[in-house]
Amino acid sequence: MWFRSDLRLTDNPALHHGWQAAEGELFGCYVLCEQFITQHPINSRQLWFIYQHLCLLQQAFEQAGLAFHVLRVQRAADIPAAIKKLCAAQNVTKLVFNAEYPVNELLRDKAVIAALDAIGVVSKRYHDRALVPPGMLTTQQGTPYKVYSPFARAWRSQVMNFEFNLYDSPIALSNKPNNSLAPQSPGQAMLQGAFAQCGIEAAALSMSELWPVGEQAAAKTLAEFCRNSMSNYRHARDYPALIGTSGLSPYLAIGVLSPKQCVIAGRDASQGLWSEDEGAACWIGELIWRDFYMHIIAAFPALSRHRPMQVYTEGFAWSRNQDDFKRWCEGQTGIPIVDAAMRQLNQTGWMHNRLRMVSAMFLTKNLRIDWRMGERYFMEQLIDADFCSNNGGWQWSASTGTDAAPYFRIMNPQSQSERFDADGDFIRRFVPELKSVIGKKIHNPAGSVENYPAPMVDLKESRATTIAMFKALK
Ligand SMILES: Cc1cc2nc3c(=O)[nH]c(=O)nc-3n(C[C@H](O)[C@H](O)[C@H](O)COP(=O)(O)OP(=O)(O)OC[C@H]3O[C@@H](n4cnc5c(N)ncnc54)[C@H](O)[C@@H]3O)c2cc1C
Repeated sequence: MWFRSDLRLTDNPALHHGWQAAEGELFGCYVLCEQFITQHPINSRQLWFIYQHLCLLQQAFEQAGLAFHVLRVQRAADIPAAIKKLCAAQNVTKLVFNAEYPVNELLRDKAVIAALDAIGVVSKRYHDRALVPPGMLTTQQGTPYKVYSPFARAWRSQVMNFEFNLYDSPIALSNKPNNSLAPQSPGQAMLQGAFAQCGIEAAALSMSELWPVGEQAAAKTLAEFCRNSMSNYRHARDYPALIGTSGLSPYLAIGVLSPKQCVIAGRDASQGLWSEDEGAACWIGELIWRDFYMHIIAAFPALSRHRPMQVYTEGFAWSRNQDDFKRWCEGQTGIPIVDAAMRQLNQTGWMHNRLRMVSAMFLTKNLRIDWRMGERYFMEQLIDADFCSNNGGWQWSASTGTDAAPYFRIMNPQSQSERFDADGDFIRRFVPELKSVIGKKIHNPAGSVENYPAPMVDLKESRATTIAMFKALK
């Protein structure tokens, strides 16, 4: 079983079927590819999260008397040979894995399948990342959906007919996060060796309290969200100062949790009314966005090559001003809600969904900086970094994407702030320079606080220029 972004034992289709076919004679492997880490990129927070979950998988395998191998390779092109060598050495007859859809991953898998085929090893691919596998939903013309609403309708009618069965874990879970640096077994030493130069220790300190490690921790977060917050999700989800959303994205991103587990929990918590119940339907709608962007990436390979979905926007004169970009990255723009959002990202590795839209729109529509720079910065920081959702979110905000925000509908960060952080609680939490600012002024202190910068751009003027530039291009 080749684990990739499906780092769990429960409800893992490749593991379930592989286990049955192997009649218990199965071992696990994971490939750490330096080229993927630097180019995609995989940031140190997410690497730390991956590492922790691999430790748990490896312990569980060891406790069941099964091997778990971690291979480290430099280039993606080295992966087929590395897996082939391992399979030959271990007399493997069949390799199972769950699909990933961006182009580099598909090419990698194709090369691995061909390499194994040459030595008589059969490869079998399963689907677990999206609830409805990419390619399964098409319009009446047989083309991929490019618009969310009809996609969501088709998704719901398809999923309504699903028989939901969760696959139990074939072996006992391990729930001991690896906080010690001394390896406890040869398998752990191999795992630590592979991750040695990834800078994960630095990330570990601040992350383990925010994001508890393990499948059981993810399941607990899911259950608590369904019990306590789902019914009010539609209202609470837009307010960054509240804990109104599930916080499950880091687990979904590396596959510690499956979307099926989420939908089943949502259905059960709403007494089966998951398509009508306000909270459940709205929350499942977000999981549908996740599926949607995965379908889009699978259907349009150019998106994996940094191209916009709306071809006409290729001609837009994006800025690449490094000073402006740095101020945005560091949360020093002088727009409090944007700065609070960016500092939340930098300090915690996570950002509230509304603020992802607000900060991405500010970068692309007010500073007119190339969305690909923002997209990469998010990939470098987010513990829930996911190529499909991130690319979708950025192209939506930049109006270059499928079903994107129309170019003339630009969020004003100040009004967003007044509406969704009315009392400024969220701003004060992350921008301590503004702690003493009272009343509405918190949303626009405009140079009145000594150690806080004046706005780096005029919101109205920059908005008008951007709209004019898009209009001219169209
Ligand atoms: C510019 C931008 C970049 C983004 N980058 C990422 C990313 O790298 N990784 C990522 O997982 N999400 C990304 N999102 C989507 C969304 O912001 C996060 O999934 C959400 O904030 C995670 O918080 P949560 O788990 O509490 O979500 P909840 O509100 O509880 O939603 C449940 C789950 O649904 C999925 N989801 C929610 N909203 C979206 C959405 N708009 N698009 C796709 N899936 C969604 C997530 O898997 C999430 O965990 C991005 C959005 C924008 C606008």
